[in-house]
Amino acid sequence: MTKRRDILKGLMTLPLLGVASGETLASSTVSKDYDRDYFKELGVRTFINAAGTYTALTASLPHPEVIKAINYSALQFVKLEELQDRVGERLAELLKCEGVMVTSGAFSAITLGTAGVITGGDPEKADRIPTDMTGIKTEVIRQKSHRVGYDHAIRNAGVKIIEVETRKELEAAISEKTAMLWFLNYANPDGKIKDVEFVEIGKKYKIPTMNDCAADVPPAENLWKYIQMGFDLVCFSGGKGLRGPQSAGLLLGRKDLIQAARKNAPPNGSTVGRGMKVNKEEILGMLVAIEVYLSRDHKADWTLWEYQTKMIADAATSVAGVTPEFHVPAIANHVPSLRLRWDAKKIKITPDEARDALRKGHPSIETMGGSESIDITTWQMIPGEERTVAKRIKEILQQASVS
Ligand SMILES: *Cc1c(COP(=O)(O)O)cnc(C)c1O
Repeated sequence: MTKRRDILKGLMTLPLLGVASGETLASSTVSKDYDRDYFKELGVRTFINAAGTYTALTASLPHPEVIKAINYSALQFVKLEELQDRVGERLAELLKCEGVMVTSGAFSAITLGTAGVITGGDPEKADRIPTDMTGIKTEVIRQKSHRVGYDHAIRNAGVKIIEVETRKELEAAISEKTAMLWFLNYANPDGKIKDVEFVEIGKKYKIPTMNDCAADVPPAENLWKYIQMGFDLVCFSGGKGLRGPQSAGLLLGRKDLIQAARKNAPPNGSTVGRGMKVNKEEILGMLVAIEVYLSRDHKADWTLWEYQTKMIADAATSVAGVTPEFHVPAIANHVPSLRLRWDAKKIKITPDEARDALRKGHPSIETMGGSESIDITTWQMIPGEERTVAKRIKEILQQASVS
């Protein structure tokens, strides 16, 4: 009860930031609408997410409109293919591209997109991959600097990854075995071949290009920027900045390739993607998440995140010896972010210990960072929670303060 009051108080003192509608507030009070506290019964602790969109922390809270769509769809039957068709058409309009399919995440968008490219949607080939690649292209080329922990998403389709560094190496690596050229959007600054040139090479050799943009909204324009740049396929996570279901994602791009990808996914049984099921709840939830995301006041969101970040920094730096660093990651997780460091001589607690104290407190608070700092973002917080986070951080640092 106090929690709700605190949140309301927090909202009241905020300048007009477009959150006054209470839309974000709803998710914080949702537990009051239930007569069972399921997580408590299980002994599973909930927490304030001051970390960001991490899979292990269940990523993001769907917008209340998304939850409404999920609940609506849970209570009635539809045909899965028909729903994918209609939602795909609507999403293609909204995202200004030829085709869209809802997947179970960016990871499965990569696998299904790759499977679509190499099988062309032929059910006989879809049945054979990833083990019998007879008559199927088997190589995907990507830049070494674009290596990420998600290689398996590509390899699951049965292909090998060929690493190159320069345009010359890339062109030399292209052969009749080359199925696709793969790009990791946030690594664009690190690679020798930039996005526009990469697309141009794909077009020159008539090889499909795929861009993994999983965590790359905001800004919203990224939802169409890379398709318009000429990438044939683009992948997004549904449960990160888009605040759709965490078990959803989007594959967008050329209509023929989207159709081919779908032949490798449920309800088609003997396919590599059969286990990557999305049901009506995620499919409809994803559509509504995009509708809501596109209609948001993104500038107001940004102002709120900056305000919250500053408030936490102000509280922390009221303890002598604390230094804040404000930064915004250039591409993925492009939001106002805070790094707190402190003078170990003045404050006798390590960042790891402080992070642990935040986690074990009431309420529990999850943050990021290594042995040098506590790293915080506020974009996955419920407005008002920044006050609790600010207060707890200040308390912990103050208690450890020698002065
Ligand atoms: C999160 C992420 C993925 C996986 O996305 P899911 O939606 O969790 O499947 C893939 N690539 C990158 C770059 C990511 O950040």
